[in-house]
Amino acid sequence: MNEPDCLFCKISAGEIPADIVYEDDKVLAFRDIAPKAPTHILVIPKRHIATINNIREEDAHDVGLLFAAAAVIAKQEDIADEGYRAVMNCNEAAGQTVFHLHLHILGGRSLDWPPG
Ligand code: AMP
Repeated sequence: MNEPDCLFCKISAGEIPADIVYEDDKVLAFRDIAPKAPTHILVIPKRHIATINNIREEDAHDVGLLFAAAAVIAKQEDIADEGYRAVMNCNEAAGQTVFHLHLHILGGRSLDWPPG
């Protein structure tokens, strides 16, 4: 675990249970506890990064792996062909509530654009 008070670090460390759908040495993905679509999965780096604003060049590989995992998960969840949204909220105005980087994968229904 990287940040003792971080919810997603605790999930990553196995201290808080989650419905895990994908894991490798750098990335973990689990179902959102309050899903906003039939498929709603959060993909996180195991290493703590608080927000998009904190991403540095040396994090690029880990951040890229979130999208590689998203592609695997979308196939796994059978939403790859019909389409889905991969989105990250940054800070308060965008509605970020957990300050550990996470990519939302939303699918299984039509998604409006632009988002509210
Ligand atoms: P955000 O608002 O972009 O920071 O997204 C945080 C997401 O984490 C929300 O969609 C929450 O429903 C979700 N969430 C909060 N706690 C948990 C948890 N224990 N397990 C799974 N998802 C969670």
